[in-house]
Amino acid sequence: MQKLINEIKKTSGDMARRGWAESNGGNISLRLNEENYAFFNEFQPKSEMIKLPMGMPEIAGERFLVTGTGRFLRNIEVFPEKNIGVIEIDNMGKNWQLLWGYEPVGAPTSELPSHLLSHCRIKAKSDNQSFAFIHTHPNSVIALTYAVANLDTRSLSKLLWQSHAECVVVFPQGIEFLPWVMAGSMDLGIATADAMTKRNLAVWQFHGICGCGRNLDEAFGRIDVAEKAAEICLRVMAAGGVKQTLSDAQLRAIAANFNCPLDETLF
Ligand SMILES: [Zn+2]
Repeated sequence: MQKLINEIKKTSGDMARRGWAESNGGNISLRLNEENYAFFNEFQPKSEMIKLPMGMPEIAGERFLVTGTGRFLRNIEVFPEKNIGVIEIDNMGKNWQLLWGYEPVGAPTSELPSHLLSHCRIKAKSDNQSFAFIHTHPNSVIALTYAVANLDTRSLSKLLWQSHAECVVVFPQGIEFLPWVMAGSMDLGIATADAMTKRNLAVWQFHGICGCGRNLDEAFGRIDVAEKAAEICLRVMAAGGVKQTLSDAQLRAIAANFNCPLDETLF
């Protein structure tokens, strides 16, 4: 349990210090692995069964550590038991209840639909190896959604791949671009989960980014590299625009060199 809390303290602290989590912005969920799952076996539920917005049989019986609604990520390091909680999905995948946390009272993030629906998809696509999902508000990624006209998944992926040579290695499947949808809505949750079936990152226009990974470090790292590429892209624009860039052949060569499964449909 302490190891689990230390992991989320590190990630949430890093997010806050990078300026990705102003006020109550940003949220984290972590599906519990076997060891952490077993820790909560003797815990009595702290809440009623609460209905999920739709059935999620893929994550029936799973337990998740989730940041709390209205809570600040920057406070997790100091008061973890107030700002995070552990919820359990029932055996039908239809309801959840609280096992621990959100002291004295509270609930999971309002972005729970995006988190849980994405966990359904990333659990399946990773053969049960992916456990982490992060949503956050990094400045440069958000700024890019205002600064560049007619963005879509193809143009955004290509722009970031070309802005930093690490990107094709870190997210060779590209980055999904989701036009603005109301925060916390089922529409946003479904669109984000659909994006996670084929990619590990999704940008929410005018709002932020989501990333998944085997663990919090991997999910955080993917977002970190995308944000750095977005920052470089904005600096290039501010410095007068692109004078030269990585060619398609160079991008393909980098991906091939590191055995990365590049999404060719994005070229
Ligand atoms: Zn947000």
